[in-house]
Amino acid sequence: MSSNILAGEIIHTQREFFATGNTKNIDFRIQQLKKLKQIMIDGEESIYQALKLDLHKPKFESFATEITIINKEIDHTIKNLKSWSKPKPAQVFWQLLPASAKIYPEPLGVVLIIGAWNYPLQLVMVPLIGAIAAGNCAIIKPSELAPRTSSLVAEIIGKNFPPEYITVVEGGVETSQALLHQRFDHIFFTGGTTVGKIVMAAAAKHLTPVTLELGGKNPCIIDKDIDIQTTARRIIWGKFINAGQSCVAPDYLLVNYQIKDDLLTAIKQNLQSSYGENPQLSPDYARIINQKNFDRLEKLLKSGEIIIGGDTNRDELYISPTVIDNVSWEDNVMQEEIFGPILPVITYTDISVAIATINQHPQPLALYLFSRNQNIQKQVLKSTSSGGVCINDTMMHFSLPSLPFGGVGNSGIGKYHGKASFDTFSHYKSTYKNPFWLDINWRYPPYKGKLSFLKQLLRF
Ligand code: NAD
Repeated sequence: MSSNILAGEIIHTQREFFATGNTKNIDFRIQQLKKLKQIMIDGEESIYQALKLDLHKPKFESFATEITIINKEIDHTIKNLKSWSKPKPAQVFWQLLPASAKIYPEPLGVVLIIGAWNYPLQLVMVPLIGAIAAGNCAIIKPSELAPRTSSLVAEIIGKNFPPEYITVVEGGVETSQALLHQRFDHIFFTGGTTVGKIVMAAAAKHLTPVTLELGGKNPCIIDKDIDIQTTARRIIWGKFINAGQSCVAPDYLLVNYQIKDDLLTAIKQNLQSSYGENPQLSPDYARIINQKNFDRLEKLLKSGEIIIGGDTNRDELYISPTVIDNVSWEDNVMQEEIFGPILPVITYTDISVAIATINQHPQPLALYLFSRNQNIQKQVLKSTSSGGVCINDTMMHFSLPSLPFGGVGNSGIGKYHGKASFDTFSHYKSTYKNPFWLDINWRYPPYKGKLSFLKQLLRF
């Protein structure tokens, strides 16, 4: 059977299940979320194993950046779901009384979730939480580049949810394309900008709305007014966690020239205390996902001058935490999203120059600023545009369900996490209700003499 027919059949059975109305029941949704939480608890060891095999992810990182993110999201959603899903009254002009207005959130139907490989579990599970919470059926296509996690997701979903409600379709580009031929009620995609455009073009054929969680080059500005050791530690953590393969990793440093030497010394010291003399031997340092990405990253090492790291081992897919100095925007490393453990450093003399540099490039997914100076904080917030901002830290904004997460411009369309996920997978149906007992004649033809009355009425 062709993959197009298979995809069509799965969607058909999900549409039938959706039509039963079961997923609209709030208690049903809460039960499914509780089940998902239990799956995370029961499957903890298998999750560690799969992520270790796919990315050499340390247990700590798997727990902190995958399992915890999912569990916190489930807890937050269960706690708030009843309130989010209640119809909300809307204001009505007094002239229209006794009419009333209400907004009803309703599920979209059958949604498609396509994941990336770098956080292969939470990048499909967190959108799934939103899809369940809003009352949808879902098809998940995890990334084929993290095959052990992909099959684990297929296994745990397959064991715990009926396929007419939630199912996993495993496979690569062809599978993804076969799914994209079908009509969905929403497509939630996480991946690169190039594939994001393909997804949006496919969705346009069916007028399907999309959420695109994409990437980009995230700047990290370092002013001179900082705590240097804490700054170095937080940059290193955000850059080298998961070997730099994070959509919100700082891509490059834009550092005030007066602090550069001290910062680089602190980065070197802190790298040693984090990963030891030889990070290849550290149990806490991940690996590159595959040889294709390894080769791409190795080429980027030819830019500028390596001042820390630069060691590679293709058989082990290992690239040491690397810092590159003396780079320019013409270098390859500054021409694309790095998405690996390479940190180029560019200096600036004045904050306005740093801001202008950022604004000459596409809006990033995340922007980082290290500075105690409140004026600089305000100036950067006011004069730059990015999906999100962290001040004096890296990546942490991603962890809060209370902060909608997503890009702007090239870094994405739409938001999720917490209430934003519920909104993404809901249609807000606006309704207006007018009783029969009052029906003043002012709006019906013939209009003769009614315009002046209407104008008088609207003055109050
Ligand atoms: P990718 O775009 O190559 O692949 C993502 C998904 O799309 C995969 O499931 C893949 O099977 C599918 N796909 C690939 N080519 C396709 C095609 N031609 N047609 C249809 N489907 C196709 O991305 P990736 O390499 O998995 O992930 C890296 C990128 O994702 C980076 O740019 C990163 O910044 C971004 N990312 C963004 C976020 C976010 O939350 N904004 C999170 C993680 C990763």
